[in-house]
Amino acid sequence: MPAVSTIIWVAIGVLIGWVLWKSGIGMLRSFTRLPPEPPPTGELRKIKRNYRCDVCGVEMRMTMAPDEDPPPPRHCLEDMIEVAPLYD
Ligand SMILES: [Zn+2]
Repeated sequence: MPAVSTIIWVAIGVLIGWVLWKSGIGMLRSFTRLPPEPPPTGELRKIKRNYRCDVCGVEMRMTMAPDEDPPPPRHCLEDMIEVAPLYD
């Protein structure tokens, strides 16, 4: 039969280990941030914006976005710049 103090110390050790384990998982979660869930199609707005990659010159049009002023997409690790539509 172990002494009561021994049991208490073991319990404290287990508790500390559990807290460290939980905070470790929390840190891992914050490092591997998942992209936000896509909103349902009904909440998307039809937009018409052209973007050009300043690095390689590729152009693309954004036709749907969760709001009317979405952040520019990225290409070649740079933000694409918005250009005036060629035709409308
Ligand atoms: Zn590019």
